Amino acid sequence: MPDTYRCRACGALYVDPLATGERAFHVCALVPDPPRPLAKPRPGHRDETWVQEQLGGAPHLRRPGMGRTLVALGDALSDATLAEIAALQAAPAIGPDPAPEPPIPWRADPAMIAGGT
Ligand SMILES: [Zn+2]
Repeated sequence: MPDTYRCRACGALYVDPLATGERAFHVCALVPDPPRPLAKPRPGHRDETWVQEQLGGAPHLRRPGMGRTLVALGDALSDATLAEIAALQAAPAIGPDPAPEPPIPWRADPAMIAGGT
């Protein structure tokens, strides 16, 4: 079931999982780093994409960073007004903060660790 989260590093609001059931995979936007031409990650940068360090190993979030806060049950963004979005940006956490990370439905594969067959 989709719920609405606020990133604890960048403040972005997003619904996860998506209405299609897929994960949203929030990644904090980079911030300018003058005078260098490239942007850099902000403190506590969060990247929810899944990575697997070795074949068959346990998958995990690329970078949990500061985590995320559950701010509304269900999708509170799709039909939200600007006032409702502003309220969500300041809303208190529902439950533990940061919210527990959801399980990753991507199983480690012992046969691959052992060299495969
Ligand atoms: Zn973020």
